[in-house]
Amino acid sequence: MTGRAADFPIPDKPSAPFPLVTGYCNIVCGFGRGSAELGIPTANVPVQELSKTINGLQLGVYFGFAKIKAVDHEPETVSRNNGTKVKMNYGRFLSRENGDLDILPVVLSVGKNPFYDNDFKTAELYIVHEFDNDFYGAQVKFNILGYIRPELNYTTKEALIQDIKIDIKTALKVLNTENYKVFRSQLAD
Ligand code: ADP
Ligand code: MG
Repeated sequence: MTGRAADFPIPDKPSAPFPLVTGYCNIVCGFGRGSAELGIPTANVPVQELSKTINGLQLGVYFGFAKIKAVDHEPETVSRNNGTKVKMNYGRFLSRENGDLDILPVVLSVGKNPFYDNDFKTAELYIVHEFDNDFYGAQVKFNILGYIRPELNYTTKEALIQDIKIDIKTALKVLNTENYKVFRSQLAD
């Protein structure tokens, strides 16, 4: 794999300020563009639920591990800002057999999504796992073990998708090394 110009060299073990770890955060709905337009769904978490240190990170793409849990709550339908409706199932379809509750690799973006002209910050997690259902309203805790690249603006959707795919490959490769793997246990209950 050839490095991209914007790629930051990833150290052989997490280095300050990493590892950073969160508590359980609520999975809320965004604009619904991740899956619909990019084919890459991202679980959005409110930035107010994240620490000052995480909020102080430079905008960009990071990696780590994540763990999801269901919330005991009746399903509910909510409206997005654009009027479309989202069914919050609070994670009731998450399946232990399918590995949905395991500690899973995650690629996360802390950014303003310049491609979409947003002017507010979001934290979005692409969990590297095939889920059979969405899990709006469930909660996720995660750690951040390293930084991949700054947030870039893209002229095309294809270029954005291409770069996210490289981010995922990069993250999986690093997370599979001994010095990173050990941080899975940070999320064990
Ligand atoms: P939104 O803008 O509402 O976040 P997305 O298109 O980004 O919409 O879809 C996000 C939702 O997709 C998540 O909240 C989650 O319920 C679901 N989802 C399914 N598979 C994944 C995955 N691998 N990683 C993250 N979220 C996923
Ligand atoms: Mg999303």
